[in-house]
Amino acid sequence: MRADERIVIVGAGLSGAVIGRELASAGHKVEIIDARDHVAGNCHTERDGDTGVMVHVYGPHIFHTDDTEVWDYVNRFQTFMPYKNRVKTTSGEQVYSLPVNLHTINQFFGKTFRPDEARAFIEEKGDKSIAEPSTFEEQALRFVGRELYDAFFRGYTEKQWGCSPSDLPASILKRLPVRFNYDDNYFFHRFQGMPESGYTDMVARILDHPDITVRLATRFNRADAASAGHVFYSGPLDGYFDFELGRLAYRTLDFERFTYDGDYQGCAVMNYGDGSVPFTRITEHKHFSPWEEHAGSVCYREFSRECGPQDIPYYPVRLVKDKEQLAEYVARAEQETSVTFVGRLGTYRYLDMDVTIREALDTARLYLASKAAGNSMPAFLHSPL
Ligand code: UDP
Repeated sequence: MRADERIVIVGAGLSGAVIGRELASAGHKVEIIDARDHVAGNCHTERDGDTGVMVHVYGPHIFHTDDTEVWDYVNRFQTFMPYKNRVKTTSGEQVYSLPVNLHTINQFFGKTFRPDEARAFIEEKGDKSIAEPSTFEEQALRFVGRELYDAFFRGYTEKQWGCSPSDLPASILKRLPVRFNYDDNYFFHRFQGMPESGYTDMVARILDHPDITVRLATRFNRADAASAGHVFYSGPLDGYFDFELGRLAYRTLDFERFTYDGDYQGCAVMNYGDGSVPFTRITEHKHFSPWEEHAGSVCYREFSRECGPQDIPYYPVRLVKDKEQLAEYVARAEQETSVTFVGRLGTYRYLDMDVTIREALDTARLYLASKAAGNSMPAFLHSPL
């Protein structure tokens, strides 16, 4: 690494902004490019001109973490307002509380269980022949049993991922807790909140440093990397290699936007568990900013489908059968000597925002330490495999 090397960061989302800020703060000049005409990647927020509602343009983003350093970091750039994600789900013509909790269980089975009774009841429902669940379906059948799985997880997951839950890893379901009390907080993390002026304002502030230059609506091509001392690349891993080995599987989302005069659904997120309803959920954006008041409302009906070449990649699918292709891309990436692949798209992993920031901080620190020691940077801090 040269002492004065030119640092190019591809992508002005959370990864790119945090790495850029940390390197600029350490005295480096940083160039950040992004193909879009705004910063903040998929957590971009924008105030709707008609209603004044802060819209999560690429779908809902709720900040939650147990990582004190990450929480302090985001709070440096934005006031976080109290927000608890309380999700409801419509299934079989009834509305239930998520994540599955004592209220859900009692309502669904028509019971008045106390916590211990509910625990024993659900334990009884679990399929104990599944010793070590490896798929989403096995995890669900083992821990909540057939009825709750069919009502709340099977249809939603088929719609969300476009495949059978028996083809998906158990790790996806492990994102959701099951509770034997009436706690309906969707997340179990210590810190949770929403940026008062939106994520785009937060990212813009992270990027607001005299040694950071941001160029929007600018596409990256690999030839640009050659003249840079080091590139931090947060675009799609397969895109970096011009999809030469085929396309990694992603899900994309379509949002059917509609407005409503008043309160459309009374909560921010209403899931739809039934497979017969084509969308996965409806989000009502004003409820993501409960400290604001708006008469009008902006809602998104959210549809998930396979991501095509012209679509925005959202969720990496990561089916076992695609692992070979991913391994080939990883092997290629590891041959790059001056590129580090970061973030959800660069490392092809389902990352929450707090993990993305944690990894970006670690990446910047490793870069500074490597530079000081005269070592080279790895292609990945966290392998996609
Ligand atoms: N899920 C489900 N039913 C629900 C909500 C979630 O089956 O009502 C499953 C689904 O497969 C989803 C996964 O749990 O992809 C993780 O849910 P989460 O709410 O974390 O998804 P995200 O908000 O990241 O899309």
